[in-house]
Amino acid sequence: MKEIALLGSTGSIGTQTLALVRESEGGLRVSGLAAGSSWQLVAEQVAEFKPDFVAMADPEAAEELRKTVPASCHVLGGPDAATRLVREARYETCVHGIVGAAGLRPSVAVLELGRTLALANKESLVVGGTRLMQVAREHGAEIIPVDSEHSAIFQCLRGEDMGRVRRVLLTASGGPFRERSVESLATVTPQMALQHPNWDMGPRITVGSATLMNKALEVIEVHHLFGLGPDRIQVVVHPQSIAHSMVEFVDGSVIAQLGPPDMRGPIHYALHHPDRAPADLKGFDFSLFRQLDFFPPDLERFPALGLGYRCVEEGADSGSVLNASDEVAVAAFLESRIQFTDINRINATVLDRRPGLCASLDDLMTADRIAREMARDEIASLTE
Ligand code: NDP
Repeated sequence: MKEIALLGSTGSIGTQTLALVRESEGGLRVSGLAAGSSWQLVAEQVAEFKPDFVAMADPEAAEELRKTVPASCHVLGGPDAATRLVREARYETCVHGIVGAAGLRPSVAVLELGRTLALANKESLVVGGTRLMQVAREHGAEIIPVDSEHSAIFQCLRGEDMGRVRRVLLTASGGPFRERSVESLATVTPQMALQHPNWDMGPRITVGSATLMNKALEVIEVHHLFGLGPDRIQVVVHPQSIAHSMVEFVDGSVIAQLGPPDMRGPIHYALHHPDRAPADLKGFDFSLFRQLDFFPPDLERFPALGLGYRCVEEGADSGSVLNASDEVAVAAFLESRIQFTDINRINATVLDRRPGLCASLDDLMTADRIAREMARDEIASLTE
C-alpha cells in the first residue's frame, strides 16, 4: 500500500485523484487532505478516506470541520495549513492540485523532505520554478508532472539522455476560438470561453486554454522541469488533444505519448511512478479518430503565447507577475467587467512594469501582490 497526501482535494484534480484511490481497492491510502474553504465536501472525504490530517486555508472552514470529524483526524487551519500538513503527515507521494500561487510553499516543503511531488499546481513552477528545481536537486526529491502535456514529455523522456533532445513539441488544443476571426474575439462572452472542446477543468485554466495563456504558462513549466531554452520548446496546435506532447531527438526521431483527453491518465501515472500500474482507462481508439491535425499557432490570434516565451527569456519575477496579472484579469473577464482581448493587453502592460524582484520566495510573493494591484489598476482604467 502506498500512502499519499492530496492537496486541493475538492477541485477537479483532487476529486479525480480520489476516484483513482477508490478504484485502487486498498492499493493507495490517503494520509492527508487539504483544501481552501469547502469544508462540507472535505467532511465527506474525511468520512470516506479517513486521513490522519486535514488542512483548510480558511480558518473559519477549519473551525466548522473540526466540529464534524473524529478526534483522531487532526485539523489544521490558516493560509499555511497545507504546508504544515505536508510536513506532519506520513506519505510517499504528495499529489498537488491546489490552484494558484498559494501552491508554491507546500511544493517546496514536500521537496525539502525529499518526498515525491506529483505536481498539477502549475503556478509552483511558473512562479518559483528556478527555486523549486534547485530544492528538488538539493534534497534528491523527484517531481512527477501531472499536467497532461508535461506528463507526456516526462514519459517520452523515460530512459533517454537530455543531451540527445533536439526539442519538445508541446501540443495545444487551440481552445474554442481557434477558427474565430481575430476581430470578433473582443465580443466573446465568459460562457463561450468556458466551453472547452476536449477537457473538463476549473474555470481559470479553461479560460487560459481559450487565450492560450495556459500554454504560455506551460512553456515556462517545460523550461524549468526539463531545463530547455525557449528555442527548444515549440508549441503545436493539435485540436483533437490525442497526442499530449512529443519529444524530437538529435537523430530526427520523434516520440509522442497518445491517449484520450482524460486527466485520470497522467494522475494515475504520477501516483504509481516508477511503476506503470494497470488501470481501467481507455487507450487511443483509432476507429474514432481517422485524422490527427497539427498546425503552427497563430500568434496574432494568441498573443499570450509570446508572453510565455518572454518570461522564459527574462526569468526573475516575470512568471510570478504574469501568473498573478492573468488571474486577476481572468476573474474580471468572468465577471463581464472587461473584454476577452483585454486580458492579454492587461498582462502585457503589467509585465512591462514589473518590479523585478527575485532574490527569495518572499520576493516572488511580493511581486505577485504588486502585479495584482497593477492589474486591478489597469482594469479600473478600462472600466471607468
Ligand atoms: P479547481 O479550481 O477545480 O480546484 C482547486 C483546489 O484548490 C480546490 O480543492 C480548492 O479548495 C483548493 N484551494 C484553492 N485555494 C487554496 C489555498 N489557498 N490553500 C489550499 N487549497 C486551496 O482547480 P483544478 O483542479 O482545475 O486545478 C488545480 C491545479 O492543477 C491548477 O494549478 C491547474 O492549473 C492545474 N491543472 C489542472 C488541470 C485540470 O484538468 N483540472 C490540468 C492540468 C493542470 P476549495 O474547493 O475549498 O476552494
